[in-house]
Amino acid sequence: MTEFAEMSKEELEQAKEAADKDYEELKSRNLSLDMSRGKPAPSQIDHANGMLKEMTDYHTKAGMDVRNYGVLDGIPEMKELFSELLDIPAGQLIVGGNASLNLMFDAVMRLFVFGTMGEKPWGQLDKVKFLCPSPGYDRHFTICEILDIEMIPVAMTKEGPDMDMVEELVGSDASIKGIWCVPKYSNPQGICYSDETVDRLASMKTAAKDFKIFWDNAYGVHPVFEDVKVKNIIDACEEAGTKNRPYYFFSTSKITFPGAGVSLIASSDENINEIKKVMGAQTIGYDKVNQLRHVQFFKNAEGLRAHMQVLAECMRPKFETVLKYLNKELAGTGLAVWEEPKGGYFVSVDVYPGCAEEVVRLAKEAGVVLTGAGATYPYRKDPKDSNLRIAPTYPTVEELEQAMELFCVCVKKAALHKLVR
Ligand code: PLP
Repeated sequence: MTEFAEMSKEELEQAKEAADKDYEELKSRNLSLDMSRGKPAPSQIDHANGMLKEMTDYHTKAGMDVRNYGVLDGIPEMKELFSELLDIPAGQLIVGGNASLNLMFDAVMRLFVFGTMGEKPWGQLDKVKFLCPSPGYDRHFTICEILDIEMIPVAMTKEGPDMDMVEELVGSDASIKGIWCVPKYSNPQGICYSDETVDRLASMKTAAKDFKIFWDNAYGVHPVFEDVKVKNIIDACEEAGTKNRPYYFFSTSKITFPGAGVSLIASSDENINEIKKVMGAQTIGYDKVNQLRHVQFFKNAEGLRAHMQVLAECMRPKFETVLKYLNKELAGTGLAVWEEPKGGYFVSVDVYPGCAEEVVRLAKEAGVVLTGAGATYPYRKDPKDSNLRIAPTYPTVEELEQAMELFCVCVKKAALHKLVR
């Protein structure tokens, strides 16, 4: 395909007319599709329905009745399952409630109200800043926004955040207190952090003594095409002598039921003890019935991994459909670039600069809702107005075919209207 930038004015005019015509034709099909959020399809969630069957045994191996009060940090068998799955000592993790975002919010709030290891609570400081590798997960940015944490965008590379920039910033500014990381199949680009990135995050010098890595391993066991191994931040920090630096988060939201799963926070022994003191005032314990249901359903980490292979098979044709359209319609045009993720939930596309908002508008007008332009950047401000997040998991393959045909036409139309003035 010819690079649009190399086309003559006449050729561009013709391409623009063709894109306009294709768009009108697609619009007349009156589509009504939503690709805005990374939700699993009902057919995918169905695979966890075994968890909803009537429970006949409400007791843990040690004889604890999960229907009653007790146990702050999770039933032993759930801790063992997570420990085996994520290679974290069971004593260094707390099993939380229905979703990990809640644990992330609580972690930041604790630092604001109580501080950590005798350092001043962040809420008493004039300024708190976080590094936000971007594009990233919008809800991390929302936590910062509501607490008035200044967000500093950091570019992503194929190996994770731009570590030269991260090291320089955290080394020189003590008001930078944290960084959000989605280390495996990142949201939205599907990037997996390299060992070097993990080691540099663990060992870098930080001006703030209480600097924290918010390690949101939301897609830690979610391959679609290939299971990639990412170095464990807890081990890396232990090796680097910074064991109190990471807070590790995970949940079964995209494994069993989103919003009705089981979450965890893990860290050093010292941090876990500190967290438990406050958490013990907040709750007597999280939902142990759900924990036992999960354990009974999966049996062990191997059972959970096997389940993830089934889910990967559900998702693979959808990712293939998205990539097929991008490659067929946009490769070589110079109008868009994208990552080919090996797992996770999204495909991230950078459209022609200055066109992302217009693509979202055009798609919406033709009946396809995309994630809002800018949503993947702090303050919803994408400096290039270029990044769009495609969430292929919810629609069927047939719906995706229609949505992607339209998406590619919208990308061309928006860019050509910019190029031909
Ligand atoms: N973290 C990331 C990176 C996500 O993409 C999502 C959901 O889309 C979540 C966290 C939400 O997880 P949970 O349902 O456990 O709160």
